[in-house]
Amino acid sequence: MEKENELLFFEPVFVERIWGGKKLRDCFNYDIPSDHVGECWGISAHENGDCVVKNGEFKGKTLSYLYENERKLFGNVTSKVFPLLIKVIDTKEDCSIQVHPDDAYAKEHENGSLGKMECWYILDCEKDSKLIVGHKAKTKEELCKLIDEGKLHELLREVPVKKGDFVQVDPGTVHAITGGVMVLETQQSSDITYRVYDYDRLFNGKKRSLHLKECKDVITVPSDDVSVKHFDDVCGAQRMIDCSKYSVDKVTVKEDVDIKVTDSFRLFSCVEGEGSANGVKVKKGDHFMAPANTGSVILKGDMILITSTAK
Ligand code: ZN
Repeated sequence: MEKENELLFFEPVFVERIWGGKKLRDCFNYDIPSDHVGECWGISAHENGDCVVKNGEFKGKTLSYLYENERKLFGNVTSKVFPLLIKVIDTKEDCSIQVHPDDAYAKEHENGSLGKMECWYILDCEKDSKLIVGHKAKTKEELCKLIDEGKLHELLREVPVKKGDFVQVDPGTVHAITGGVMVLETQQSSDITYRVYDYDRLFNGKKRSLHLKECKDVITVPSDDVSVKHFDDVCGAQRMIDCSKYSVDKVTVKEDVDIKVTDSFRLFSCVEGEGSANGVKVKKGDHFMAPANTGSVILKGDMILITSTAK
């Protein structure tokens, strides 16, 4: 393999959250800093958590540095900033009910940030888990009234989920990951969240701030229909979503699988098992990038990976 096509493995960044737990240690074997870690940023060039390469000629460099200075690794992608962010999320407690803006709103109101389209592959959850995706208000007036009265939680849509399910969440869709659910999240590289309801919880004696004006601005009315798709562990690649910002595949490796990487980079996160990628050992919890024009990424072993490309 040519050196310039070497797979780049990343050192994750861990983010403590009041709703986080310790499954990132117990289930993923990460060396997390406390028992309240909600997020592992596995591949990120965001200023709030910029991942460092841990192998090869770019060892020690951040992903944002590579995106600025070694653009050929990324192929034909035109985004001003590295466009994607990959997280493993452990919600011990319910997350706040929240919504994200789209690119246009974020650009105008959030210093030129990207908006946030996101999607979840359910890694694990308790029996009868439900996620919150969308609401039942019929008009903007009804939505705003519910928000002002602090009652939006009474009209939210719940969707049952199980391990292996996949959910796409567009900007403007009110949502929450509930307690006890672990997901692999593929999202635009954005850290903008507007909280609309937080269960009136107190943290260190205080409620967290809400962003009601922004929520009223960006929540879609009526809610788009959201479907939960399920993907069994079938050997090979299965396309879970192909949208305007990314495409995401589940890759199950039982026999050898060959993933072609041509004119754009591709991100990989191993979420189960172990094996190898182009001869390099890979295990659950590893995140890596195949630079554009890597050609074949040959996956061997017994493992499941979530892989994505940007639009
Ligand atoms: Zn979100």
